[in-house]
Amino acid sequence: MVEVVFLGTGSAVPTVKRNHPGILLKYKTESILFDCGEGIQRQFRIAKENPCKLTRLFITHWHGDHVLGIPGLFQTLALNGYDKTLEVYGPKGTKIYVSKILSLFANVNKIKFNIKEVSSGKIIDSEDFFVESFMMEHNTHCLAYRFVEKDKLRIDKKKLEKLKVGHDPKLALIKKGKDITINGKKIRAKDITYLEKGKKIGIVLDTRENKNIYKVAKDCDLFICESTFINESDIAKKYFHLTAEQSAKISKKSKVGKLALMHLSQRYEKKENEVLNIARGIFKNTELARDFMRFEI
Ligand SMILES: [Zn+2]
Ligand SMILES: [Zn+2]
Repeated sequence: MVEVVFLGTGSAVPTVKRNHPGILLKYKTESILFDCGEGIQRQFRIAKENPCKLTRLFITHWHGDHVLGIPGLFQTLALNGYDKTLEVYGPKGTKIYVSKILSLFANVNKIKFNIKEVSSGKIIDSEDFFVESFMMEHNTHCLAYRFVEKDKLRIDKKKLEKLKVGHDPKLALIKKGKDITINGKKIRAKDITYLEKGKKIGIVLDTRENKNIYKVAKDCDLFICESTFINESDIAKKYFHLTAEQSAKISKKSKVGKLALMHLSQRYEKKENEVLNIARGIFKNTELARDFMRFEI
């Protein structure tokens, strides 16, 4: 199971209801933060999430609304005895920007962290999941991320019981797709296993429409996408952003399970239903993400 907690769903200017962006993804021992808008450390507290569990931070781009929470978060981690090494990923320039932002304050440098500047491709490949990054079209280097849980072979317990072979340790090989023999009885992996599809989550923040968005969104169980505007596609293009209408069309074409819209401009604070209705008219399973909303996928 993958759990997603929205810590901030606003955009450049925060509102009473919406903090600057931050998305927490929890999976097994991983606690991954996508973007770190100003005030994220407090959003962790309100959401009753422990920032000291963080394993990784992914930065989409270096606009203030996505990164101004970094010194505050690092300070909170330092003061709370963070004992891991935070793995940080971001676009070109991330190393120098992080060192500059941290050089302004005392004590925020006390936690251990590694920075990897990435462009496009597979940037993490672990036993259970991988993460890919994709170049977006914004007015600075900007990345989108795709978290993919790997498919797993599972043993069909009913079929196994029928074979009456007990709990033989060789059964572990079956989960790797290998045929085994127990007490002279050949057991074929394909006869007693089924494929459990891994979950896919795409995160697209701050970009105008481009073909890479479709690679991020393809078959996602949850697709999180910016919708700075409602349906003014010319203005959205000019300012390197997306509309709710475009995000819904992309989701429909990409056969996503659920679309969560965020990064709403403050000007739509009183028109949220309009944003949602336009998107739902195109792609029914759309939600307007709100701060502290959670999805279990
Ligand atoms: Zn932004
Ligand atoms: Zn931006």
